[in-house]
Amino acid sequence: MIIVYIEAVNGQLKKSSLEVLTYGKKMADKMSSSVAAICLTSCDANAVGEYGVGKLFQVNDDKFNHFDSKAFAKAIGEIFNANGGQILVLPFNQNGKALAPRLSVRLQAGLVNGANALAETSDGFVISKNVFSGKAVANYKIHTEKKIISLASNSIPAVKNPTSCEVVTAATSITAADFSTKYIKSELVSGDIPLSEADLVVSAGRGLKGPENWGMIEECAKILGAATACSRAVADVHWRPHHEHVGQTGLAISPNLYIAVGISGAIQHLAGVSSSKTIVVINTDPEAPFFKAADYGIVGDAFEVMPKFNEALRKLKF
Ligand SMILES: Cc1cc2nc3c(=O)[nH]c(=O)nc-3n(C[C@H](O)[C@H](O)[C@H](O)COP(=O)(O)OP(=O)(O)OC[C@H]3O[C@@H](n4cnc5c(N)ncnc54)[C@H](O)[C@@H]3O)c2cc1C
Repeated sequence: MIIVYIEAVNGQLKKSSLEVLTYGKKMADKMSSSVAAICLTSCDANAVGEYGVGKLFQVNDDKFNHFDSKAFAKAIGEIFNANGGQILVLPFNQNGKALAPRLSVRLQAGLVNGANALAETSDGFVISKNVFSGKAVANYKIHTEKKIISLASNSIPAVKNPTSCEVVTAATSITAADFSTKYIKSELVSGDIPLSEADLVVSAGRGLKGPENWGMIEECAKILGAATACSRAVADVHWRPHHEHVGQTGLAISPNLYIAVGISGAIQHLAGVSSSKTIVVINTDPEAPFFKAADYGIVGDAFEVMPKFNEALRKLKF
């Protein structure tokens, strides 16, 4: 059986979870196998069924309201083993990255992190993933009996395939002692939308000349309901806070839309944003490397383009 680990926020499945549900369903069809999901917090079983997965394991235990990689890995491993799991699929997000290696050890399972496509099964079990900041694709064969894949965001689109979903209450041996961290509180550091989960991101770099010019970026983000991000060059000189810095040494994000204003598109920046679904670049320099990675580009001065862009967006949003 293929088992996918999914996550919900306030009962709503994350976009990355819809993608792993789709992945699990497609792999099950390809391998003539069955597929089920594990969600350790409360989530809508109908939404799981919408994406073709007909069985949902839930634990109904408040202890799981806050993430702890050690306890979550133990619970997922137990449910996976108790239900004949052979292939485990997780999202390659912050939690998935913490869980996958723990589960690999726990289940004695080969692991490929950041898969970008369905496994090839004609000659063994081969997974492809992007490497060298997306400049190359590498193939890995998993030869252990149990297998773990974490799926890079935006690698396959979530596709609805409605079926009815049976909820099964799963037993685990987890006690409070399995949790090695204790949740105290969380505070939003800026804006309303966490960057790592944002669907839309407006980002800017040194082309903006100084921190006093970020008003037009924040305005654009507000109109769109987007999060704001920045290049490292900008965070290093404290024009923007470091938690907004995206790239190789910052946060890696995969929003549906990434708007880059006055950012050159250095390879280290692209490493964190190139898996965005649609990239829009605004830059005065037509030779800026970012244009090669862009779906849409505007060669122009941000100080002229952004006010007009915001005005047009405001009209679109009424
Ligand atoms: C080991 C290492 C790790 C790194 N990690 C990261 C990382 O994680 N993230 C990251 O971002 N960088 C990272 N960097 C730095 C990276 O190499 C670049 O130096 C950095 O991304 C440049 O930031 P920038 O594009 O904002 O600035 P610049 O390179 O100075 O580019 C500014 C751009 O703005 C354009 N521009 C100027 N004026 C305007 C205007 N009025 N309107 C529109 N456009 C304008 C220019 O044409 C230019 O393309 C790393 C570097 C190293 C060595």
